[in-house]
Amino acid sequence: MKPDLFFAVAAAAEKYAVFGAMSLIMLQMHQMKKGYPLEILNHCDAYDYIDLANEVALSTLSYSLEKVAAVLTHPGLLAKWLKYYHRWLAIPKYIDKLVEPHTSCPRMMSWHYRFSKHVRDNPLYGLNPAVLTKDFACTRTTRYYSCPCVHECEVPFQTALKTQQDAFPRWSEITRTSSDSTAVEDVDTQLETDPGVSSLFNHASADLTFRSSDNILFKIHAKYLGATSAGLAPPPSTLMDRTHIELEEPSTVLEILFQFVHPPPESKRYLQPDIRSLEQDLFFAVAEAAEKYIVYGAMNLFMTRMRQLTQDYPVDILRHACKHGYRDLADIVAPNTLSYTLSVVAPKLTTILYHWVIYYDLWLDIYRDVDSHIWQSKSMECPRALMWQALFHHKFTENPRFIFSPLSLPELPACKVQGSGPCPCAEFSKLFSKVVAKGRSIPKFSSIAFPRSA
Ligand SMILES: [Zn+2]
Ligand SMILES: [Zn+2]
Ligand SMILES: [Zn+2]
Repeated sequence: MKPDLFFAVAAAAEKYAVFGAMSLIMLQMHQMKKGYPLEILNHCDAYDYIDLANEVALSTLSYSLEKVAAVLTHPGLLAKWLKYYHRWLAIPKYIDKLVEPHTSCPRMMSWHYRFSKHVRDNPLYGLNPAVLTKDFACTRTTRYYSCPCVHECEVPFQTALKTQQDAFPRWSEITRTSSDSTAVEDVDTQLETDPGVSSLFNHASADLTFRSSDNILFKIHAKYLGATSAGLAPPPSTLMDRTHIELEEPSTVLEILFQFVHPPPESKRYLQPDIRSLEQDLFFAVAEAAEKYIVYGAMNLFMTRMRQLTQDYPVDILRHACKHGYRDLADIVAPNTLSYTLSVVAPKLTTILYHWVIYYDLWLDIYRDVDSHIWQSKSMECPRALMWQALFHHKFTENPRFIFSPLSLPELPACKVQGSGPCPCAEFSKLFSKVVAKGRSIPKFSSIAFPRSA
């Protein structure tokens, strides 16, 4: 049976609870752990096989983000996986930090370079002490350089790595979501108390009452709704029976939104609220509500403000822009999201996460190019090449767009490669021009997120 078909049959067996088939399929999946960890994880997440998920999760780390995004289709799973991946990335990052004080030691740099390369190519490498020990035994670099710190540094280094690996949590521990049950209880208790009334929107003559999710009433004159909003005006029947119109938003959001619906009261000197002072979460919650209920004035104002904040809140703005079809804003803000960690991006970009991962992977492709240029045996003998790679790695991890700023490099050590052929370090400026050109050719986010048919 072809794998695609196998996993489709497996899903069907679960869906229709065909017990005999289900246990056979689980047996088969255990046999397929090596070749299809992503497909298995997808199945386990959909049908709650936690133990098997824990077993295959590590193997999923060695696939490209593009492949991961394509296979992990169960709703919410990609975000969980990115959380797991981000936690795992903490190990190489931790090692980076340990190496930092030793950047003048070529052996250390060589070790670190090989370590990071292997870890990126196959995360399991870093988690298998046997392979690492073998690597430590390599003396290639010491043959070329006297290294003052071989014994001082490598042993504690290796121990630190081992400690990190041992402490790495299982899939289910990292991806578990708690506190779901308490949120439900909160809503229940709120509904039992009497509703409060908004201090701003309590006009006695108002003919329409909205109720917020936290049980606050907003009394509004219906005549203003049609003029200021396309989404809040209720059908005439609702108008007549004078019951509360339930809205999903909390009162903090509605209090601001209704100030764009209702003419501002005299006490506010007829001014609409100053949205510049809104705290981040509230800002985006009101912007979302403005789009949902099509409150024209607020939509315009929030859009203008977001264009001023593309450096400050790129991830939230990208989500908002994509959700509501502001393609140009998405394109402006998307590059700014690259410097954020996966753990920040994943939970915020729920619906466009797949597209963001594809976009991010295009940037990582630049890194892979640089890697394949430097990953030659000569570089292992050249402190100049190793240092350059380390700097590129460091800056790229921080923010891939560093390639567009003028490059200021510290003094690099001299090339030590002798014999036939040029060392990769001789071509760094050429390599860097290629990197910049490739960076400029990365398609706009909107062309990935909303491909045009025409
Ligand atoms: Zn050394
Ligand atoms: Zn050292
Ligand atoms: Zn060189």
